[in-house]
Amino acid sequence: MSDPVILAVDADPAGLAGIERELLDRYARHYDVVCTASAAEARDRLTQFRESGNDVAVVLAGKEVDDPSCSELLAEVRRLHPHAKRALLVGWGEWGFRETGDAILEAIEHGKIDHYVVRPVAPPDELFHHSISTFLLEWAEERRTAPYAIQVVGDSWSGRAAALRDVLERCAFPHAFCLADSDEGRRLLEGSSRGTELPVVILPDGTTLTNPSDVELTRATGSSVEPGEGEVDLLIVGAGPAGLSAGVYGASEGLRTLIVDTHGIGGQARSSSLIRNYLGFPRGVSGGVLARQAYEQAWVFGARFAFMQHVTGLRADADRLVATLSEGATVSARAVVLATGVAYRRLGIPALEALAGAGVFYGGSGSDVHRMSGQDVYVLGGANSAGQEALHLARYARRVTLVVRGTPGMSHYLVRQLAATPNVEIRLGTEIVGGGGDGWLTHLVLRDRASGAETSVAADGLYLSIGARPHTEWLPAEIARDNRGFVLTGADVPRDTWPLERDPLPLETSMPRVLAVGDARHGSVKRVASAVGAGSIAIQVVHRLLEADDASAPVDELVELRPA
Ligand SMILES: Cc1cc2nc3c(=O)[nH]c(=O)nc-3n(C[C@H](O)[C@H](O)[C@H](O)COP(=O)(O)OP(=O)(O)OC[C@H]3O[C@@H](n4cnc5c(N)ncnc54)[C@H](O)[C@@H]3O)c2cc1C
Repeated sequence: MSDPVILAVDADPAGLAGIERELLDRYARHYDVVCTASAAEARDRLTQFRESGNDVAVVLAGKEVDDPSCSELLAEVRRLHPHAKRALLVGWGEWGFRETGDAILEAIEHGKIDHYVVRPVAPPDELFHHSISTFLLEWAEERRTAPYAIQVVGDSWSGRAAALRDVLERCAFPHAFCLADSDEGRRLLEGSSRGTELPVVILPDGTTLTNPSDVELTRATGSSVEPGEGEVDLLIVGAGPAGLSAGVYGASEGLRTLIVDTHGIGGQARSSSLIRNYLGFPRGVSGGVLARQAYEQAWVFGARFAFMQHVTGLRADADRLVATLSEGATVSARAVVLATGVAYRRLGIPALEALAGAGVFYGGSGSDVHRMSGQDVYVLGGANSAGQEALHLARYARRVTLVVRGTPGMSHYLVRQLAATPNVEIRLGTEIVGGGGDGWLTHLVLRDRASGAETSVAADGLYLSIGARPHTEWLPAEIARDNRGFVLTGADVPRDTWPLERDPLPLETSMPRVLAVGDARHGSVKRVASAVGAGSIAIQVVHRLLEADDASAPVDELVELRPA
């Protein structure tokens, strides 16, 4: 198999020579570097690469993005090599000129390019290489070509093999998957001492696990399942963005911190393919990458984790809070942060529920999106997550239809981006009332809510993003919730449920020293940044509560925070 390709096209001969020199100097050993001044030649080469099965990793286009030949080229890249990262080459400071700046923004917003790259100036130009190597890493992660220590071999992309891959992702463990009857699968299985049962997981030291349980696999990766010592300062329930943020701040500020999660890291955010509105990531960041980095950050500050453990109960015992875990252990903490997030609503149509994982998906397409290449795909939902899912799928699918029961309630930038994406159709005032398939989704039944007319449409995939239910049913009755189950905090805590003289602090629930943050909290903004912000604020509140305890002082005297 030939090396993957980095292709640069630039009509300016001096500019092209500089780019070619930088690319060859750094990447020629592992990539085929192709540079041309002609957009037509670039298109021909892309077609050849597609026909010969060569992967294209990065395409750099040096023309003006509103030049038709450049737009056509970038559209062709998207069609022929959907995984390739596409960037516009711009000169130093050019983005500051209004016309170029607007063209770049328009191109990013309409999905014509992934980002822009500043042309190299003098060798070695590390800024240029930082952009290129970031693209290469993103491409390698999407294509699963990065080096992986754990291999999963299964007889299907779905079922138990998919569940095991999910466990590995949630433990932040890089892995690769292949089918047992592929060349790679046969090679791996020959070398392993397995029986006939699939799936198998092959560990870095060659050990083979045959269809391990989630807990066995988690332990095998070296991640901890047991909570360790039973006493901590701070227990955080949930390792989504809110819990990870509380973990980073709690551990970095000296609290003995334990984070427990039913699965592993990332929560819902892990299913987000590209978060574009999180501070500090102008190119966007996948939820998986963000979670992995936050996990590592919390860990190096000393936070400890217990995965595959559900917190099943919580009670106050004198000055301690005692939580029970699903594997039977108890943890005693001075303060607890609830960061349990939400679960999305189910569609409730039996024929479609039966196809969950077989063409019908909850919680986003994630890294499996290439399965939808060239297919007809439907996304149901009217919020930001549905809009993002539709845009992500549109890069691969032949056609994406976004079905919205009423009118969309998503960010304006997403509405504009969807409207500008040619293979996305939006059907407002429509619901899905049926569908089916033999082992895999083949069709859906749509109903126009105004006329009641029903239409059967061919569909290869349905992605559901239809509302959320908080993970709070396990909480004791003393923790007050609203009528949808979201936890009441601070000024929202009903007076008749609050046992102390002082008022509850911001984020504090009706059980003193138990705080709630993120999506599970009543009135929360359902965004990663809000969850992360609340996680950090919670630690300030925890400090005040613990300082007040230590000093036996009235907590109000020590509290600088006031409800917003
Ligand atoms: C497909 C998709 C795309 C999205 N895109 C964006 C975006 O682009 N930008 C943006 O800002 N937001 C986006 N969001 C929303 C964002 O992901 C959420 O707002 C955020 O993840 C909420 O964080 P959280 O920590 O409160 O909860 P969650 O992420 O839901 O995490 C909660 C965690 O708690 C664990 N848990 C629950 N109960 C228990 C228990 N009893 N014991 C132990 N553990 C428990 C769960 O396993 C889970 O890991 C998206 C969401 C989805 C689904």
